[in-house]
Amino acid sequence: MQWLSRLPVWGVYLTSFLALDWLSYHWAIEPLAISLWNPQSALSLFLLLRYGLKQWPALFVAALLAELVAREAPVWPAYALLSSALSTLAYSAIAALLMRVGRLDLAFRSMRDLGWLTAVAAVGTLVGAAGSVTLYLGAGAIPPERWLGNVTRNWLADLVGILVLLPLLLRLFADRPRLFKFRPDLERLAQIASIGIVLWIIFGLEVFDVQKRFYPLFVPMVWISMRHGIWGAIIANFLTQVGLVLAMLWSNELASTAIDAQYMMLTLTVTGLLLGMAVTERWQLRKVLSLREVELNQALRFAGAAEMTSALAHELNQPLAAISNYARACQMMVTESALVHPLLAETMAKVVREVERAGESVHRLREFFRFGVLRRERLAMSALLSEVARVLEPHCMRHDVAILFRIGVGLPAVGVDRVQIEIVLHNLLLNAIEALAVSEGSQREVLLEAAVFEEDAGWVEVAVRDFGPGVQADLAEGLFHAFATTKTEGMGLGLAISRSLVEAHGGRLWLDDSARPGARFCFTIPTDENRGSIAEEV
Ligand code: ADP
Repeated sequence: MQWLSRLPVWGVYLTSFLALDWLSYHWAIEPLAISLWNPQSALSLFLLLRYGLKQWPALFVAALLAELVAREAPVWPAYALLSSALSTLAYSAIAALLMRVGRLDLAFRSMRDLGWLTAVAAVGTLVGAAGSVTLYLGAGAIPPERWLGNVTRNWLADLVGILVLLPLLLRLFADRPRLFKFRPDLERLAQIASIGIVLWIIFGLEVFDVQKRFYPLFVPMVWISMRHGIWGAIIANFLTQVGLVLAMLWSNELASTAIDAQYMMLTLTVTGLLLGMAVTERWQLRKVLSLREVELNQALRFAGAAEMTSALAHELNQPLAAISNYARACQMMVTESALVHPLLAETMAKVVREVERAGESVHRLREFFRFGVLRRERLAMSALLSEVARVLEPHCMRHDVAILFRIGVGLPAVGVDRVQIEIVLHNLLLNAIEALAVSEGSQREVLLEAAVFEEDAGWVEVAVRDFGPGVQADLAEGLFHAFATTKTEGMGLGLAISRSLVEAHGGRLWLDDSARPGARFCFTIPTDENRGSIAEEV
């Protein structure tokens, strides 16, 4: 039943084909009804390229109807059948070559597409024209000495038709929103008017020598293609071609100069397309380069930040070690004294532990950023998660947030650098708590999940999920880049550093888009059994 859905397409195709054919026939060069250009050929090729080679029967029907109905009296009834079969075959071969061998991109975006289209269409239409004029010769409709001239005219008409109209159809379908963006500013209006003015000078004023009079048409074409790339060239080609046919009809000199006009139109069309495509490709290249520049800048800034982290870590090492020593001394004094508050000993112990933790984090971060060092050990995921949650307890209390755990049963131990993965978890958890702190939502919970990674049992997937406002849409793309932040106090380094640390373990860190409301950050780390398969660092 698929063909039923194609009926409207076939209807539009057949109607436009017959209408264009009728127009061409009524303004054609006798006796073979060869028009200046055959836009119908572009329609046929477009149907095959866009909807598949299986549409070939539509081409046959269109060609046959054109012979029998539009041309009223066929020269020779069998000719109608034969010539329709021949043109269907020629167009199917052109389309097949373009799709299967040339791998034409239907968005028609590159010099490669243009090259393939021009070459295959030139050869295919030449073979088609030679075949159909030979049929005419066989039927005795033309004398042998007119064979070559007629083949040339037929060929040029088909080829120009394809090169002018097919890129327009391809781009219209690939880039439809573009149509609605068109704004007729002064320059564009002047460009369109320039085509009309040049045609008027050529045909109205007749100041040029008949042989050379078409050359001025290159001026608007080059102007438009240089300014608007391939889109401009396609539109300019179309307007020039339609204008030229109308002007020639109006000045009543179709037959006398038709072949000159056809050659000129082919040259003009190809020049415009080449120039337009070169300009478009240059723009695309510039866009890619500027994107690369932004990425490079980000990478350099991140390297700078890493360098700064490492330098800071170096500076902080000493004072942290000193604080740790003083704290230990205080702890000893507190335990020896019987007079102090009972909670003081416990608090001092916490101070010692936190200072030591800070010292270790700073030291390991420095090692990682300077030398890429990873000290892997076998760890239970539950211990890792509860340690980070414990450290952030005061934050949770301040913002009235509860941390819930969901740890898979029988989860294997992981083989990771404890301090580094703690830094990752700390960053994600802190972001989640901060997101809840600014949110009005009633579900004030952060969910810490760990399970065997679905795609590979050698990995554990860890997720930190909150029910806050979620990541801002405009940030999502560069979220993991350094300095991407929405917080006034934020550095935007947490996620970038976390990603480096996870990737150093061979894992991945990502934002799970499907989790709503709130945000869910996930990352993978190797199980302890799997770590042998991952290159050891240090
Ligand atoms: P910082 O926290 O210093 O801004 P991060 O790299 O950790 O740097 O985070 C970058 C940005 O990502 C944050 O400013 C925030 O806008 C967004 N973000 C991170 N985690 C969350 C989350 N759980 N919910 C909403 N937004 C988040």
